[in-house]
Amino acid sequence: MSAVAENDRVAPIIAISGVSRFYRRGVDEVHALDNVSLHINPGHFIAFMGPSGSGKSTLLNLVSGIDRPSSGEVYVVGQKLNDLSEDELADWRARHVGLIFQFFNLMPVLNARDNVALPLLLTRLDKSERLRRAETALRIVGLEDRLTHHPRTLSGGEQQRVAIARAIVTDPDLIVADEPTGDLDARNAEAILSLLRQLKNDFGKTIVMVTHDPRALRFVDQAFHLDKGLLLEGEDAERAHEAILLAAGGSTTTGARIER
Ligand code: ADP
Repeated sequence: MSAVAENDRVAPIIAISGVSRFYRRGVDEVHALDNVSLHINPGHFIAFMGPSGSGKSTLLNLVSGIDRPSSGEVYVVGQKLNDLSEDELADWRARHVGLIFQFFNLMPVLNARDNVALPLLLTRLDKSERLRRAETALRIVGLEDRLTHHPRTLSGGEQQRVAIARAIVTDPDLIVADEPTGDLDARNAEAILSLLRQLKNDFGKTIVMVTHDPRALRFVDQAFHLDKGLLLEGEDAERAHEAILLAAGGSTTTGARIER
């Protein structure tokens, strides 16, 4: 059996079936997501792409257990998230998901190591073990010489590396990143995308990222294209993919396949 065929038999780490998310806005109902179904296999690096307002953040929030659908089913890491209470969702997130944000969301009064150790406060580990694990995470992202630096003394790229170390310090199954390169210059954006790819390659992490960044197509395995709450398929998805490649300067070096 070929590697590709074997891969297709792997149980998905994310399975979304017929998911819709509606919001009430006055008398109107906004269809943020409309009957979206998709599967993501473990160890894949995925991008959700599409214009502003297309439903990317809504989908990311469902995958990471921050929000629940109006209808449809969301299974992540073997758990049906629809069934969990708010408290259970928070507990599930702490154990299974590492979050990365556009603006890093670091605590300014804490140094890099203490920022990274924060999620471990929810565990039973003692302080020395929490700091040791934070140092290991900072070493993985290449910041072992910045342990006691505060965020304001770090560049944007370094701050995002600290945030990535914080996302991996609990060894989560899933890393979820919301526009992780949105506030970075081209060089730092490439470095962060490359680091995320390395986490997938070296540690088998599944990474799901919302991005507008056309460069991302060179680093991810699959891109899902959204528009007006719909997951694009077939020729529509191909057209959206081509448009992003054109925006990236017509590069044909993309490694990503379009999901359909
Ligand atoms: P994207 O991330 O692609 O920019 P979003 O998922 O944030 O898109 O939003 C999709 C649609 O849902 C938009 O029309 C947005 O205005 C709407 N929306 C998102 N969150 C809310 C909310 N909490 N209340 C009302 N409408 C919302």
